[in-house]
Amino acid sequence: MYVCPFCNREFDTLMYLKKHFKRHNISFCPYCKKYYKKPLEHYAKKGTRDERHLILYYLSTNLYKNHKPNSKLFKKASDITKELVLKDEEDRN
Ligand SMILES: [Zn+2]
Ligand SMILES: [Zn+2]
Repeated sequence: MYVCPFCNREFDTLMYLKKHFKRHNISFCPYCKKYYKKPLEHYAKKGTRDERHLILYYLSTNLYKNHKPNSKLFKKASDITKELVLKDEEDRN
């Protein structure tokens, strides 16, 4: 299961989560509980030390076709998202 970092809804695939993620206002960081004018920069900056922000960076980057992601960071973000967003089934028992 893939869990949305904004609302904790669960999805069977990462693709569904990405589609769903578009409905959220990404200028609001759910971890810092603040609005950012440049959320991608915020997520990228925090993401170097905080994996949760890196997940947001990964999911948000998909929403901006014009945004050229830092490819090294984006690769890391993509790997971490696949690992961490995938919720362990056993956790729920
Ligand atoms: Zn959501
Ligand atoms: Zn934040």
